[in-house]
Amino acid sequence: MRPLLKGSAFITGAASGIGQHTAAAFARHGVTRLAIADIHKDNLAATRKAFQKQFPKIEILPIHLDVRSSAQVQSAIAETVRAFGRLDVAVNNAGIGGSGRLTHEIEEEEIMRILDVNLNGVYRCQKEELAVMVKQEDLGPREGRGRIINVASMYGIVAPYHGMAHTAYTTAKHAVVGLTRGDANAYAGFGIRINAIAPGFVETPLVQATMEQSEDKPLAREVRRSALGRIGRMEEIGDAIVWLASPMNSYMQGAVQVVDGGLTSA
Ligand code: NAD
Repeated sequence: MRPLLKGSAFITGAASGIGQHTAAAFARHGVTRLAIADIHKDNLAATRKAFQKQFPKIEILPIHLDVRSSAQVQSAIAETVRAFGRLDVAVNNAGIGGSGRLTHEIEEEEIMRILDVNLNGVYRCQKEELAVMVKQEDLGPREGRGRIINVASMYGIVAPYHGMAHTAYTTAKHAVVGLTRGDANAYAGFGIRINAIAPGFVETPLVQATMEQSEDKPLAREVRRSALGRIGRMEEIGDAIVWLASPMNSYMQGAVQVVDGGLTSA
């Protein structure tokens, strides 16, 4: 059977959670050159080591990156293209949570930090990725010049119940959907596909940390409300991103794929 993916990929927030599982899924499904970017140096080194053992035939490029820095994002993308010659798929996944406190109770600095990582970080990455992709060879109607997947959230489509996430998080994720749709429209003519994924609750360190900060622990109640009645696994989001990024998915553009166990549809 032909692999779903081939070529190179760049993934932010790849040293933990959804990003790490997406990188592993990409490696399993045919990517041969994988740039893993993250702000957390130790986790990045550990991920690199684990991947080198697990996927000995794949070229792994670890990049220490803070998506809050335009200069760092520029050099991360430049380094990837220097090493791999081409950027086939980019997954803009790095993100942070935040307490579910009320807007007037939270410091402005915290609000700006959430927006800077979760929205501006995706913007910075997408800008640099597009600049590379528009100049690449077009590989045809299915693969095109490149594909970008932005990791939004179900809170990019609906608002959380009070206490589940901060409004700055919801704002950023809604804006990531706008960023995805706007550029999907603008860059379709270049043969670049851009889509977003909107995960529901997934068992990652981010969710665990957010839930520990909430006083009334509403997660279990929310998860029970979903059609599948359980929290998502990281590899389930990674696998969905593989499909979103693959040439099999050539007619999806500017779409937001909800993967939430039926929570928002319930
Ligand atoms: P996680 O905390 O396990 O992983 C996030 C990674 O991003 C970490 O490795 C972290 O070091 C990195 N990161 C944070 N700030 C960064 C920065 N400034 N520059 C570069 N890297 C940075 O979290 P996760 O749950 O895997 O989240 C990944 C993405 O999925 C986020 O965008 C999150 O909003 C989104 N998401 C998660 C869930 C969920 O339930 N876990 C649901 C919906 C959406």
